[in-house]
Amino acid sequence: MGTTAELTRLTAHELSDLLRRREVSAVEVTEAYLERIQAVDGQVKAFLTVTADQARKAAQEADRRFATEPAESLPPLLGVPGALKDNMCTIGIKTTCGSKILHNFIPPYDATVVEKTKAAGAPILGKCNMDEFAMGSSTENSGFFPTANPYDLERVPGGSSGGSAAAVAADEAAWALGSDTGGSIRQPAAFCGLVGLKPTYGAVSRYGLVAFASSLDQIGPLTKDVTDAALVMNLIAGKDERDATSVDRPHPDYTSFLGREIKGLRVGIPKEYFVEGLDTEVREKVMAAIGALANLGAELVEVSLPHTEYALATYYLIAPAECSSNLARYDGVRYGHRSTTAPDSVTMFKKTRQEGFGPEVKRRIMLGTYALSAGYYDAYYLKAQKVRTLFRRDFEEAFKQCDVIASSTTPTVAFKRGEKVDNPLAMYLSDAFTIPAPLAALPALSVPCAYSAEGLPIGLQLQGRHFDEGTLFQVAYALEQALGLKRRHPEIPTGSGKEVR
Ligand code: GLN
Repeated sequence: MGTTAELTRLTAHELSDLLRRREVSAVEVTEAYLERIQAVDGQVKAFLTVTADQARKAAQEADRRFATEPAESLPPLLGVPGALKDNMCTIGIKTTCGSKILHNFIPPYDATVVEKTKAAGAPILGKCNMDEFAMGSSTENSGFFPTANPYDLERVPGGSSGGSAAAVAADEAAWALGSDTGGSIRQPAAFCGLVGLKPTYGAVSRYGLVAFASSLDQIGPLTKDVTDAALVMNLIAGKDERDATSVDRPHPDYTSFLGREIKGLRVGIPKEYFVEGLDTEVREKVMAAIGALANLGAELVEVSLPHTEYALATYYLIAPAECSSNLARYDGVRYGHRSTTAPDSVTMFKKTRQEGFGPEVKRRIMLGTYALSAGYYDAYYLKAQKVRTLFRRDFEEAFKQCDVIASSTTPTVAFKRGEKVDNPLAMYLSDAFTIPAPLAALPALSVPCAYSAEGLPIGLQLQGRHFDEGTLFQVAYALEQALGLKRRHPEIPTGSGKEVR
């Protein structure tokens, strides 16, 4: 097989085919990615930690398995390098969650998804940048540095899984895992021209995922195409005894949905998602893609999700409330940053948190503490929980009329770095379409559907019934094939790269 650059451009399943045919070795593939990271990550800044040694060892082990085990029994992602958002615990490898308060945290255990990745023989290239504690939509809230969008280095890759998305879009990893609480997989997928899936709540174990808002958080794939997303979902889905919220039910082989006809399938178009604030070009291109689904024989039905306008307000009570409680554990006592200038322990707690958390995290802790405080609990937190039920009912009604719900993933294409950092509300609004699904615990997927006139990716979101990821893959794959959209490989100036040891 050809040059290093060609290898890193391939999808995970294409790489897997080459590896299986022994046309390339896992060591060669991993070296190609490490070279690519070295060449471009100085510009993209997708990685917080590159784990070159571990990746190389895993690649050697993969080659040993290719040489000795029967091809049919080999896991699909064997030897195919991936990257992890830095909120997934990795034994012996720093896990910062994008926060200074965890700058020195080295977990003593692996998250379940990490264990599964290792068992499947996929080399892990490193840990990706993110908004601090997954709070944000641009990766500008990282406690370390912002990540660039590979399609335009002046723009944001989205967030909070911006590092994971940028790494895959810049061909610095074949696939990545992100986490999504209110859009953090789907919005960066849309901004970076990738497929991103937020699974049904409970489909994937959260064990070892640093908690932000525990009733919403889910881990999911960020990939170059729909087939890869199905392969990664096959890898990570399933009940885990160590996460009581993971659901015990069989998961189908998600690749079995690829290539199934969508004739007669009902695609709901929610009128509340095609409103003011949705960019005209994005609207047109998303509607054109929905038209392509109709050409394939899908039936388009207008549906209504009447409570959509309350989603942001509800999310910004529930998520901060859960975050304020989850983040109470960062006190400098057992692990993480500890202020060294405090004369007594109470001052130490205060200073540790003052020094360790960034402004957005502090804002959320304050909002959440307020919403949960005596006297305001009923008015804010309890009310928000009740409204949450209304979203669930909205979707239940809508899914009587349709099988999936299609919309734009985001109101606009990727915005410029610095454009929204001083305006939290504007930043929050960029999640208007991605927040309802997690509030209702539903699966939702973003698939590239067009490029803007400026050459920036546009994503189409498909929301589905609980545990019906299969239909999302089915429709997304049909769309991908019908549109034949070629993934672009943005030019990234090489040089001043990252040193990879
Ligand atoms: N952008 C949203 C927030 O800031 C969602 C983040 C996420 O999904 N982790 O909370």
